[in-house]
Amino acid sequence: MLKLLSMHFLCLLVALVFLPAALAGNWWHWDDQLKEQSNGKPAGESNELDGGTLLRIYLTGEQTAAEMELEDYLVGVVAAEMPASFHLEALKAQAVVARTYALRKMTARGGSGCRSHPGADLCTDSTCCQAWEKGSVSLEKWPPGKDSFYLQRIREAVSSTRGLVITFEQELAEAVYHSTCGGMTEAASDAWSGGGSPYLQAVECTYCSHSTYYRRETAMPLTAYAAAFKMEKEALPVLGEGNVPLLEVTARSKSGRNLLLELGAPGRTYSGNEMRNFLGLPSTHFHWRVEGNSIVFSTRGHGHGVGMCQYGADGMAAEGHGFIEILEHYYGGVTVEEAPPLGSGTTER
Ligand SMILES: [Zn+2]
Ligand SMILES: [Zn+2]
Repeated sequence: MLKLLSMHFLCLLVALVFLPAALAGNWWHWDDQLKEQSNGKPAGESNELDGGTLLRIYLTGEQTAAEMELEDYLVGVVAAEMPASFHLEALKAQAVVARTYALRKMTARGGSGCRSHPGADLCTDSTCCQAWEKGSVSLEKWPPGKDSFYLQRIREAVSSTRGLVITFEQELAEAVYHSTCGGMTEAASDAWSGGGSPYLQAVECTYCSHSTYYRRETAMPLTAYAAAFKMEKEALPVLGEGNVPLLEVTARSKSGRNLLLELGAPGRTYSGNEMRNFLGLPSTHFHWRVEGNSIVFSTRGHGHGVGMCQYGADGMAAEGHGFIEILEHYYGGVTVEEAPPLGSGTTER
């Protein structure tokens, strides 16, 4: 009896307090749902039986896991992964790729889950899975006066694309994305070892020129350049006579990114990604020249360059392209459709 009464009280509480607040679109809505769900479901249990899709998310900042409904989770991903000032169609494209990425990782669908946190479908570390942030964090980030407008647009981007994903041959696509390509995206087969999906090819992008990373120059003192390689087991002489950098590109991709470079004398070969990390550059698309005591790197783009260019998506939207056109541009040959049902054999490779 007591149990029945408390159930009634709970229903009343939901009807009187939570529902109106949720409908009014208050800030704490998606964080609050997260708390309710994390308390209500046993650990590690993901399901799609109740009309929603529950994901187990490892919150990297809090170092704890919580369960979230997919569509609520996506609001936090779009807010964290893309500037809220972007055009609505770009935000919609971001919502679709983030949904595809999450479902493909989901262990209940045969995905690998988060590689750093076993038991979680995804974590909130952008270098491992995809970024996600609490509403309160977005509120701090967004300028006062714009916050409710931005939140409403992000919610609209997620809700108006509800359930939509990108597929290739009836399987969830590998929906990778990056900030700025700098003129042409990169084929997955060039960016990473392995074959690469047929829809992750290099495509021209003239739409991301409003990104501050489109073209960039970074000057580095030659002493810092030499010091960047000190972590190497065998210290290589990396500067020749007259402080000429002993660095040579031995392989470039179709998009112009450096795939292999030879450093030092005698030379040792490095991948473009290794060299980018050593030097702290925004992408593997770089050239250099010496000016006085500095080496000046000219770079194009920001990120690995594979899949959707986020600034490019915004540029396409500004020119009147819809989110489906945006997705079809960056992932050639994919279909934008409702997510295949659970158990249909879509797995992460
Ligand atoms: Zn992760
Ligand atoms: Zn681009």
